[in-house]
Amino acid sequence: MKIAFIGLGNMGGPMALNLVKAGYALTVFDLMPESVSKLADAGAAAASSATDAVRDADVVISMLPASAHVRKLYLGENGLLEAIKPGALVIDSSTIDPQVAREVAAAAQAKGLQMIDAPVSGGTAGAAAGTLTFIVGGDAKVLELARPYLEKMGKNIFHAGASGAGQIAKICNNMLLGIQMIGTAEAINLGVSSGVDAKVLSDIMVKSSGRNWTLELYNPWPGVMENVPASRGYSGGFGSDLMLKDLGLALETAASSRSSIPLGSLARQLYQLHSQFGHGHEDFSSIATTLGGPQKNR
Ligand code: NAD
Repeated sequence: MKIAFIGLGNMGGPMALNLVKAGYALTVFDLMPESVSKLADAGAAAASSATDAVRDADVVISMLPASAHVRKLYLGENGLLEAIKPGALVIDSSTIDPQVAREVAAAAQAKGLQMIDAPVSGGTAGAAAGTLTFIVGGDAKVLELARPYLEKMGKNIFHAGASGAGQIAKICNNMLLGIQMIGTAEAINLGVSSGVDAKVLSDIMVKSSGRNWTLELYNPWPGVMENVPASRGYSGGFGSDLMLKDLGLALETAASSRSSIPLGSLARQLYQLHSQFGHGHEDFSSIATTLGGPQKNR
């Protein structure tokens, strides 16, 4: 089976690498030549364009930043739906607007392709370790076709429902994650400002009722935990602007389902402010600094 992988950033790079390690013949493309070179060094074939990458592919996987990139890649001028061979399987793992996911999947189906939305959770560490959670929207039979490939990149695979449902579930998860990150950063900042050591406080809270994913695996305070963005100047990881995008998707999803998301809305405002202060490219745990946190340690 020939796999084309488009989008080799913080997530796509390590995901593609796991497919290469599993022995698949991969052809890769990214707008950043250095990301393509890294995969080529690991044994993938380098394509000169996305169209070139998908030409003979039986499976196409994309991992792009946002809705606009995905729509343009598949439906834009020289869009991939014209180039992918009929019958091929298409997996988009980017986190995007559920409406766009449905629109692209419907267009793919009209071209004789089988497509699922399969956004992921688990961060860059999960991508590198091959332990991602895939949250799939689309036909259950198409998910079964995709399962062998997803299993090489992830540990948990959920079927959320019809096309676009993977995106909705992912958006709900990331809204909760954004709220949790802000809450964790706020609590540590309160403790540190009042004289308690950040690591001591984190050790207490992670064994108490404030326990959550950000405290366990992704502490936002520099020096508390090794190998997390906070301890390397908030580099790598999940960009604040990507979290801002996901919180925007939560707001749009809430508007279409007439749901109230007061904390999600506030989280979006805080990430908007953080981005305006110039921190959009930093990992999303850097919100701790905008909340009055570890300025001196930056
Ligand atoms: P990233 O910005 O690091 O990578 C995106 C890559 O896509 C870049 O290398 C960019 O050059 C490439 N790209 C953009 N347009 C392209 C095109 N037309 N053709 C080829 N390549 C193109 O982003 P990321 O952190 O890897 O995130 C990707 C997606 O995964 C996003 O939707 C994000 O919300 C989601 N996500 C990220 C994380 C995380 O921890 N970083 C976790 C879960 C989900």
